[in-house]
Amino acid sequence: MPSIFSRIVAGEIPSYKVAEDDRHYAFLDINPLAEGHVLVIPKREVDYIFDLSDSEIADLTVFAKKVALALREAIPCRKVGMAVLGLEVPHAHIHLVPMQTEGDLDFRRPKLSPAPERMQQIAQSIADKFRS
Ligand code: 5GP
Repeated sequence: MPSIFSRIVAGEIPSYKVAEDDRHYAFLDINPLAEGHVLVIPKREVDYIFDLSDSEIADLTVFAKKVALALREAIPCRKVGMAVLGLEVPHAHIHLVPMQTEGDLDFRRPKLSPAPERMQQIAQSIADKFRS
């Protein structure tokens, strides 16, 4: 049974796509910690990020960097925070969260639920700034 994120990559479940290449996919977290909270995943389904090969984790990180640069242009912030948890979805992913304060990266905080139109607008604004 493919992970929910593999089903997103396959287009079986909708997502607010931010960027994609042949091996990676980036999309908005459905319950963001802050507006512009992005998930970056390898298309190859692996549960634990440190089970990726050296080259896979290196390439994933470089792809996440490009997304983070676009994110900071689209959503002005002090820095883009990066975190890996993976306690909920068993498909390796990097969280990228625009931060104004360190509390913006506190995963115990209540999540936001932006309206679909707002999510679409945010995803498009990041996608517009993304350079492969
Ligand atoms: P983690 O596995 O890192 O603990 O958390 C998984 C993250 O994926 C959560 O922040 C959650 O909001 C997000 N998430 C879970 N299911 C979906 C989904 O179907 N679509 C999107 N866009 N995000 C999801």
